[in-house]
Amino acid sequence: MSPTHVLVLNSGSSSVKYQLLDMRDSSRLATGLVERIGEQTSRIKHTAAATGDTREQNGPIADHQAALKAVAEELARDGLGLDSPELAAIGHRVVHGGMFFSEPTVIDDAVLTEIERLIPVAPLHNPANLTGIRTAMALRPDLPQVAVFDTAFHTTMPEQAARYAIDTKIADRHRIRRYGFHGTSHAYVSRETARLLGRAPEDVNVIVLHLGNGASASAVRGGRCVDTSMGLTPLEGLVMGTRSGDLDPAVIFHLERVGGMSMDEIDTLLNKRSGLFGLCGDNDMREIQRRIDEGDAQARLAFDIYIHRLKKYIGAYYAVLRVDAIAFTAGVGENAAPVREAAVAGLEGLGLAVDGDLNAVRGDGPRLISPAGARVAVAVVPTDEELEIATQTYALVGKGS
Ligand code: AMP
Repeated sequence: MSPTHVLVLNSGSSSVKYQLLDMRDSSRLATGLVERIGEQTSRIKHTAAATGDTREQNGPIADHQAALKAVAEELARDGLGLDSPELAAIGHRVVHGGMFFSEPTVIDDAVLTEIERLIPVAPLHNPANLTGIRTAMALRPDLPQVAVFDTAFHTTMPEQAARYAIDTKIADRHRIRRYGFHGTSHAYVSRETARLLGRAPEDVNVIVLHLGNGASASAVRGGRCVDTSMGLTPLEGLVMGTRSGDLDPAVIFHLERVGGMSMDEIDTLLNKRSGLFGLCGDNDMREIQRRIDEGDAQARLAFDIYIHRLKKYIGAYYAVLRVDAIAFTAGVGENAAPVREAAVAGLEGLGLAVDGDLNAVRGDGPRLISPAGARVAVAVVPTDEELEIATQTYALVGKGS
């Protein structure tokens, strides 16, 4: 029988998240996380799905090579090691695929070179992704390894949505355009929304609101992305946990010229110390809601700014699409009923409404929260980026191997 297991690796600068799935039924066999790679306090946490047992080991893990070895050992303890004949492929999350990669791609030297060439536009993410890929390839050189790009789903955006209004020659020379991110999530959630409505993805137009610590919106027409809120980097668009999202670019000149800040300091400010955190000191929506309930005005204002931006994007994508559905997903979108309610409040004229009782129900599955018969469906659709990466990887290599 052909091998049916796919290992999904998401390699960050100091962490590796992993999941092993059996593609016969998309079930999880194991999940885990290696954190604080390169520090004395590294940790690997591994959960075997069959038993639900979680094992944790603390102690220094020097680099990604050591981290992947530790992952392989943990998997081997459950009889699911990297040498398992059941393993069909490894699927790697790669953040930036530029304009070149519009599909999942089997990794070879040319692909590695192209991912490397994109480092200037993804300096934080692509180097870590590459390290993970190279380490996994060294461990299993014979196994198909597939790159699944965060940007790929957005390569269908038309030029009028993808280009910034700056000098075209300079933009092209430096590959400056809107690439978008969270693509595997937007792809998965837009498809699952169509399924929830009992319709084919080609027949449905969806606004996907991926609201996690990072956040992005996308306009998906008939299964193809036509606009998204993140741009050259994940900094553009919605208010996020620690990122500012949209702002007048002149704020940056002002901070440098008048505020005396360096470019690195401004970069850190806008990516790590802005958004909800910059506005009120907390980036966790649970904590912000708790503070609002206690009458905290700063938390209230942060929430209101977050919601105002979200509404502006919903409105903008109404102008781009004939909208059939709006889908909320990721940590905030799936869990924070007050965010969903506030985001569509006052938009009844657009056919948008949320049923209070349905919105209050907690659950793991896709569900409608709009009243019966509403013109536009409002849904909560849990995202599953690992499953999407595994599905795309297996579709590419699994069935033939
Ligand atoms: P993600 O990046 O998708 O993992 O989302 C993480 C964010 O989801 C956290 O920073 C919280 O702001 C938010 N979140 C998670 N659980 C809840 C919850 N029960 N209620 C409100 N927000 C939540």
